[in-house]
Amino acid sequence: MAKRRLNKQQQFRIKKVQEERAARAARKEKVVQAQAEAGELGPEQKGLVIAHYGQQLDVEALEGDHNGSVVRCFVRANIDSLVTGDTVIWRPGKNETGVIVARCDRQNLLQRPDNFGALKPVAANIDHIILVIAPEPEPHDNLIDRYLVASEITDIPAVILLNKTDLITDRNREHIDALLGRYEALGYGVFRTSAVESGETPSPEVEALVKNQTSVFVGQSGVGKSSIIQTLMPDEVLRVAAVSESTGKGVHTTTTAKLFHLPMGGDLIDSPGIREFGLWHMTPQEIEYGFREIREEIGHCKFRNCRHMGDPGCAIDAAADEGRISPERLKSFHRILQDMAEQQARGLKVN
Ligand code: GDP
Ligand code: ZN
Repeated sequence: MAKRRLNKQQQFRIKKVQEERAARAARKEKVVQAQAEAGELGPEQKGLVIAHYGQQLDVEALEGDHNGSVVRCFVRANIDSLVTGDTVIWRPGKNETGVIVARCDRQNLLQRPDNFGALKPVAANIDHIILVIAPEPEPHDNLIDRYLVASEITDIPAVILLNKTDLITDRNREHIDALLGRYEALGYGVFRTSAVESGETPSPEVEALVKNQTSVFVGQSGVGKSSIIQTLMPDEVLRVAAVSESTGKGVHTTTTAKLFHLPMGGDLIDSPGIREFGLWHMTPQEIEYGFREIREEIGHCKFRNCRHMGDPGCAIDAAADEGRISPERLKSFHRILQDMAEQQARGLKVN
């Protein structure tokens, strides 16, 4: 995407909007601050961030008088960035507002690139990424592996969910079974469903997958993520759809992530941006690490600075020859390394 320079007037306008926003937040913070000083804040208690709007967050009370209700909270200035899925300590104020005073430890953090390629935290404490694929549209080359690399380096487990099983025919069955078999052999959970055939209710496979877990759905456009989510929470889906429509389906959407409670137990964190998770720039070290079976071979190449691109004495090539790395994954590994190197070279030229 070509970077566009903002003209002076646009810069001025953006600056003004930012200043106004900051002033507004500061005023509100003052009000809560005053309440705090007057001893008007309630006791410290645990809460869950379910949505994030700039300086304010929606926090669901996890205990106490407010248990289960949602309170619009401000954040004490000394807390680093909070995201949907974070657990926090907050204190109730007046008029259904509150103050977040601390963030609890995170199990993990899902990030995605902003418009300038810098990683931005989006959601926390995720039990698994559900990577949705389908016979149609056929998985883009390397896309599955890129998502899996992202899952490995952020330490959020990934499972693969094949949707649209109703579209499996004698022509594509073998190919799909082989593909899923490769990931199963690597230890990834593989599940199958058809959102169309399951109709209004989730399929038993999907229900078992999301039950009592905090899930995010990712995968390329058109594989059926919205359709599956609709089976999980028929009442909420209009909101999700409205969000993704208003922002389009581009990679650089900024819509905030929201946490939804699922009727069967468990939570879903969703935003158009999250669905594109994993498509950022990765270093060669991250890519090596992100391929489980390749990780094992690191450090065994003949040359310390081996680029693993057919270099002599490469331990990864040797492992592939011995059948410990599949030809498909090796090819994909090389392709991702190459893409990233090219992307970097292009980036350097532009800057
Ligand atoms: P998303 O972009 O991943 O959210 O995909 P959508 O949920 O918007 O689905 C894309 C298209 O695939 C829509 O036309 C859906 O009706 C269709 N679709 C979704 N699930 C299935 C399925 O299980 N079988 C078939 N045949 N079509 C499906
Ligand atoms: Zn090597």
